[in-house]
Amino acid sequence: MTTKRRKDTAPASIDAEVVVVGGGAAGLTLAAALGTAGVETVVVDREPVAARAAPGEGDRTTALTYGSVKVLQGIGAWDGMADEAAAVLSLHIADNWSPLVLQVEPADIGDHPYGYNVDNGAIRAALLDRIDALPSVRHLAPAQVVGFDRDGARIVASTADGTALRGQLLVGADGRESPTRAWSGIPVRRWQYDQVAIVCTLRHERPHQGVAVEHVMPSGPFALVPMPDLPDGDHRSAIIWCERRADAPAYLALPREAFEDELQRRCGDRLGRVRQVGRRFNYPLSGLHARRYVGDRLALMGEAAHAIHPIAAQGLNLSMRDAAALAEVVADARRLGLDIG
Ligand SMILES: Cc1cc2nc3c(=O)[nH]c(=O)nc-3n(C[C@H](O)[C@H](O)[C@H](O)COP(=O)(O)OP(=O)(O)OC[C@H]3O[C@@H](n4cnc5c(N)ncnc54)[C@H](O)[C@@H]3O)c2cc1C
Repeated sequence: MTTKRRKDTAPASIDAEVVVVGGGAAGLTLAAALGTAGVETVVVDREPVAARAAPGEGDRTTALTYGSVKVLQGIGAWDGMADEAAAVLSLHIADNWSPLVLQVEPADIGDHPYGYNVDNGAIRAALLDRIDALPSVRHLAPAQVVGFDRDGARIVASTADGTALRGQLLVGADGRESPTRAWSGIPVRRWQYDQVAIVCTLRHERPHQGVAVEHVMPSGPFALVPMPDLPDGDHRSAIIWCERRADAPAYLALPREAFEDELQRRCGDRLGRVRQVGRRFNYPLSGLHARRYVGDRLALMGEAAHAIHPIAAQGLNLSMRDAAALAEVVADARRLGLDIG
């Protein structure tokens, strides 16, 4: 994978067909999909590019369904991340510590893995590389969009440094607190879960054999998701451990040995001795749903439109569907000479 990066020097005005606010995984996927279809696109993110592109750290991963992998293949971004992906060959789901396990095997879903668990830095780096290679896509970062206006058949988004981004369609891919959604006056329904997701990486003695495991506990789901082996042969899995909000801080503060004992208790002996490596992350869990996804020359996607509990690992997978569907609608309208907004 190449890691070339660019920071465009912003001119006073940029004309495109589509302006995408937010260059997280959702916005970058849409930009790559639009660019693959030849649509003039500018994607803008307020964070510097380097701040979030660190492939191979293995600190956090995302489980992508086979459908998402097909989308990424279709837009030419999959090969750039495939080396940092572990195939999920089957799912084992248990109620609490019940010995009865619901098994989903490849034969149940078709002649392919259920999906792949991919390093987040690798997803981002591969999408950025793909965008770099697409002549019809510009990536501006860091550049913060501070508002937008309508100008006849155009929409004009303004950045903090005074650049005007003109397009026929504005897409808000700017995350849970989406400024684009707020400026559009689209109401949003929000809810809280009484849970915090504790996320970390494990090294373990025995191979995971491509099995993802989820124990559905009273305090929240505890999931083990395969990661690629390290070059030294060490086996790895990602942990997503959802715990009650009141109890999570105490677990997070445990010294390494006691924390590993808690993990071992939850993992059982299938993987042999487990060790925690890297950082411990924590995410207070909540959800949201925008009342509308579209407006006049405007569309919302990704977590700007919908955010859900990680229990089924579907958040970004839904956003990949958003990207594929939106790019298809735009490309079709453009091909027919229609107004894409
Ligand atoms: C613990 C956990 C585990 C998860 N596991 C999975 C999984 O296994 N599989 C899965 O599919 N999903 C998973 N998810 C969900 C997934 O992580 C999210 O859906 C996804 O990261 C959201 O991406 P996004 O691009 O929509 O939003 P974000 O990543 O929030 O990106 C929004 C971007 O918009 C930019 N922005 C905001 N405002 C502006 C502005 N004014 N101007 C310019 N830029 C702006 C921000 O800088 C940011 O880069 C998980 C979530 C959690 C919490």
